[in-house]
Amino acid sequence: MMLGSLLVFLLCNFLGRENMSRRCEICGKGTMSGNTVSKSRNHQRRTWKPNLVEVKTEIDGTTTTVKLCTRCLRSGYIVKKV
Ligand SMILES: [Zn+2]
Repeated sequence: MMLGSLLVFLLCNFLGRENMSRRCEICGKGTMSGNTVSKSRNHQRRTWKPNLVEVKTEIDGTTTTVKLCTRCLRSGYIVKKV
């Protein structure tokens, strides 16, 4: 039981790290996919990447860098440390 939960935790951590590369740490927004449709209605796969910025902030007295989307930054979910 204990080992199982530990394995799940490690797996989630690993997968999370894999997917967190281009993902907002506040809202979890990541890369979206869809089609570009031309005038002749040909479909071509494409992706939309979130507009991410790395911002220094202070959490519990320690300065850390958070990767978040500009929408979360604009909404004031974190306070920028200058
Ligand atoms: Zn966000």
